[in-house]
Amino acid sequence: IRANFSTILDDEDEVTGFITVISDVTEQERVEQERRDFVSNVSHELRTPLTTMKSYIEALTDGAWQDKEIAPKFLGVAQNETERMIRMVNDLLQLSKMDANEYPLQRERVEFVGYFHQVIDRFEMNLPEHIKLLRDMPKGQYEVWMDKDKMTQVLDNIISNAIKYSPEGGEIRLKVENRRHHLQVSIQDQGMGIAYDKLEKVFERFYRADKARTRKLGGTGLGLAISKELVEAHHGQIWAKSKEGKGTTVFFTLPLMNQKRRGR
Ligand code: ADP
Repeated sequence: IRANFSTILDDEDEVTGFITVISDVTEQERVEQERRDFVSNVSHELRTPLTTMKSYIEALTDGAWQDKEIAPKFLGVAQNETERMIRMVNDLLQLSKMDANEYPLQRERVEFVGYFHQVIDRFEMNLPEHIKLLRDMPKGQYEVWMDKDKMTQVLDNIISNAIKYSPEGGEIRLKVENRRHHLQVSIQDQGMGIAYDKLEKVFERFYRADKARTRKLGGTGLGLAISKELVEAHHGQIWAKSKEGKGTTVFFTLPLMNQKRRGR
């Protein structure tokens, strides 16, 4: 808490009163701290792929380029790291546009179940062989006022996480439930799960439950943070439930349009 005192003087410079302004600076300080953490996270996250690339390129320069077996591997690593950095910078640009409200939604009326089937069909096209997608959709038509491209981005993030963290032979259940005024979408996997105390944190920027492992899987730690912003821009909510070693379910809601139109 910050307090400012001033005195009120009349024409003859006599003190006739006092003003005390007490302001709560906790919020201000929290925002400042978040900003500092963010800058430090960005620097750290970008330095990691750069250092990796540097050491591989040094090894190549020092002679590894002549080795027909090693050279392509090292170049492959450098390429992967470059691609991950590009993804990260693109994600950061998108987040900063969203922060500045320069990322308007292009909304239209969309029948959600049909749309969701199409998104899943696209994933089925190049799904790792050992993974199965199960669909659990309600009957009828459910219309939502949404930006298709951005909702696709939300689903892409959540579904690719589910695939990424699924075990061999894992099943992923994709579900839509009608909850009167909104739809509840859930994506459930049988993967490693997320510890209870980290369930909310995974929606924060750069948060990774297991840094080394998820970096190796090519993650940026920004996917769920972007998904959260996008779901909230659609007036929905997003959260996760998980049992370590058993699996994770990510849920989000979307308000339904004009109820009379449903069930046609
Ligand atoms: P990343 O690019 O690292 O996947 P995300 O923002 O998409 O970043 O996810 C943040 C973190 O949440 C991940 O690094 C991972 O630790 C955890 N996570 C997300 N989805 C799952 C899941 N389905 N199962 C287990 N952990 C998950």
